[in-house]
Amino acid sequence: MEQNRRRQYLEAMGIQTWMRRDADADEAQVEEATPQPVQVPEKQPVVQVKTPAEKVHKAPVPAPSRAEEVPAWMDEPPPFDDDFIPADLNDDIPLDLEQGLKGRTDIARLDWKGLEQRVAECQACELHKTRTNTVFGVGDREASLMVIGEAPGADEDRQGEPFVGRAGQLLNAMLLAMGLQREQVFIANILKCRPPNNRDPRPDEALCCEPFLKRQLQLVRPKVILCVGRVAAQNLLKSQETLGRMRGRQFEYDGIPVIVSYHPAYLLRSPDQKAKAWQDLQAAAKRLG
Ligand code: SF4
Repeated sequence: MEQNRRRQYLEAMGIQTWMRRDADADEAQVEEATPQPVQVPEKQPVVQVKTPAEKVHKAPVPAPSRAEEVPAWMDEPPPFDDDFIPADLNDDIPLDLEQGLKGRTDIARLDWKGLEQRVAECQACELHKTRTNTVFGVGDREASLMVIGEAPGADEDRQGEPFVGRAGQLLNAMLLAMGLQREQVFIANILKCRPPNNRDPRPDEALCCEPFLKRQLQLVRPKVILCVGRVAAQNLLKSQETLGRMRGRQFEYDGIPVIVSYHPAYLLRSPDQKAKAWQDLQAAAKRLG
């Protein structure tokens, strides 16, 4: 029964399955045609990602051993940053960005209600002028898995919810393939407001909005982050690498394992990449235990 259910989920994602007939078996075995099981290299180094503020204020966080599925720090909230503006940016910081970051260190101490209100009222970057709604994030605020995308699109801007429309439906199917309902994960974006014409977020916008996502991560404290799309991965992990180079590697954000995969909107345009996305989801499921 479980296998049949899993096959239905995979087919909903557009991943082909085949049935193995076995005269001795009571029930046919369902297996994916592709991909093969994820191979995680035993000695692959974990890339530790530190936020700019941490580079200044915090000592490096030691990587957890393989036996330590959940790093010890997850039992306690990470320390707050007293000064969010990175010291190495202070000399040459653009005026609008400085204004955007100023007086916002208290975001790191807000509860859910206060955080939602701050996002709804935020005018820290120019995107507030063109948004219809802020898109705070939805889902279980104690979720084990947090999905992070890039920024709201037109549908999300209209509805005030991330990952709606066809891409959202595909994300839901991908989560179901992992055995998770949409309501069981927390879904958020790098930016809370839609960039005009769906352009990529600018670095100053991402930096202005980062305290909100950082606080959401502190409050949810997920076991795993699934980061979908190049823009989300580059901003979250402070990297310029291509998505292809980031996939299949082990990253951490504030000690939380990060799995990088394709954005569902990309998978709608390139369904031949769904098999690779399934590999990524399996890797995330493995980290979730
Ligand atoms: Fe504020 Fe983020 Fe919206 Fe910019 S994108 S106005 S920082 S909530």
